[in-house]
Amino acid sequence: MGDTEVVIAGGGPAGCAVAAALSDLGWSVLLLDAGVDRHKQLAGELLHPPGVRDLRALGFGDVVDGWAAHPVRGFAVRFHAPARTLVLPYGRGVTGLSLEHAALTLPLLESVSRRRGVTVCTRARVTAVEHNCERGVRLRYSHEGTEHTVHARLLVAADGRASPVRRMLGIAEHHQRLSTMLGVTVDSACLTHPEHGHQFVGGAVHALAYTIQPGVARVMVDLPLGSTAQTLKEQPELLLALPSRLREAVRQALEQRPAVRMASNDDWLAETVWMGSAVLVGDAAACCHPLTASGMASCFHDARALQESLDRYPGHVARALEHYAHARRPAQRTRVALASALYSAFARQDEGMHALRMGLLHYWEHSPGGARASMALLSSEEPRMRVMAREYLRVVAHAFAAMLSPNGTGGSLRSAAPLLRSAGPPLRGTVASAVEQVGSWLHRRVRRPVYTLARAGWASPRRAFASNR
Ligand SMILES: Cc1cc2nc3c(=O)[nH]c(=O)nc-3n(C[C@H](O)[C@H](O)[C@H](O)COP(=O)(O)OP(=O)(O)OC[C@H]3O[C@@H](n4cnc5c(N)ncnc54)[C@H](O)[C@@H]3O)c2cc1C
Repeated sequence: MGDTEVVIAGGGPAGCAVAAALSDLGWSVLLLDAGVDRHKQLAGELLHPPGVRDLRALGFGDVVDGWAAHPVRGFAVRFHAPARTLVLPYGRGVTGLSLEHAALTLPLLESVSRRRGVTVCTRARVTAVEHNCERGVRLRYSHEGTEHTVHARLLVAADGRASPVRRMLGIAEHHQRLSTMLGVTVDSACLTHPEHGHQFVGGAVHALAYTIQPGVARVMVDLPLGSTAQTLKEQPELLLALPSRLREAVRQALEQRPAVRMASNDDWLAETVWMGSAVLVGDAAACCHPLTASGMASCFHDARALQESLDRYPGHVARALEHYAHARRPAQRTRVALASALYSAFARQDEGMHALRMGLLHYWEHSPGGARASMALLSSEEPRMRVMAREYLRVVAHAFAAMLSPNGTGGSLRSAAPLLRSAGPPLRGTVASAVEQVGSWLHRRVRRPVYTLARAGWASPRRAFASNR
């Protein structure tokens, strides 16, 4: 039986970031990765500024500087009818970046394998969690046909949205399949705003596009469940929201079958993100529709939150994990609610959502501050639920203004009732978030004396690990 302080299941963005974070704290880390082929995956390729910042803070500055990445300055949102494009900029002086998924992720794994105290084992799959309590975990993994058992003080499940380890831990999950994403590459000269992520909204299907290599752009088309590349070939009118040159490039790319990548878009939400001495990070903890392109930034944010929590409560893993869960929750709640609200606003064809789209168009056209505030929410720079609810209400007010405007593009007053109803979930989310924050503040106050003892150095992580084995 082998022993280590931490086992991380998964060597994607989340697993690599956590390995770096915990090696910085002096923990010994065993990272096991089952080895998904990232060259064939359709997944994260645009990283917002907070993600870039967190990666640098985790010591990946040399990796970021070594990427042949393309700068991103915000989103360019193209509305289908009326046909208009609006730019949502990041804050002044900050940029995100975009590059092909394998080129982004593989150097992180390579870099982390050189960190002090980190052992990376590829083609190694966690197969069972045999024991998990506040004192540690015992798990099994298979590597090159051999089964191994390992005992650890902490298990980090960074094994992606379908997370087998989450199930092994018995953590309940909410799962909903939303749609199918089809991805192709085209000449990046087809993009109208080369340094922006593109959103094509209000057509029969929603689409995203951004440059991922010099001269190459990824286009992702969100198709109804059960669709395939053939669906798009047979119904080219689905792509009408794309400008004609881009539409033609996508049509040609569909003819080159091996170049087409598919992925499912899902909501996967874990009921809790920690149990005993195990914790969930990245997509294993929460995954939503990728239209905000915030998944990887969220992975890196989780890694930093976990690092800060373990540093804050040395020798007290359970308290640290509880703190981690509270620390990450507000931003996650906002991210997931925003993705759901925007997906409806961008893709649904009913009257209420048409009116909301016209509200977004009107708001962003008339308020540069509003465009920046929306981008801050989209990029996870702004994590507060109440800010999201405030922005949503402003958009609803602009939707009414658009409805009453003389050119009549905002739709009829019949849309008023569904429009108002759509504001219910963000408002309820804000109230729930406020109640939860007060509860967790009270909870922390009541337990503070115990934390203070642990903080004062009554047990170091290494001593606690040794005595807990
Ligand atoms: C179509 C699409 C487009 C996206 N676009 C963006 C974008 O532009 N920007 C953005 O930020 N995000 C985007 N995302 C989301 C982003 O890809 C994810 O948030 C991110 O990859 C999650 O990283 P992760 O490390 O949590 O999981 P993953 O990247 O899924 O990695 C999980 C790892 O765990 C390993 N594993 C699985 N099971 C086991 C096991 N039993 N034992 C050991 N290892 C195991 C796998 O081999 C894999 O390497 C997109 C997602 C999709 C589907």
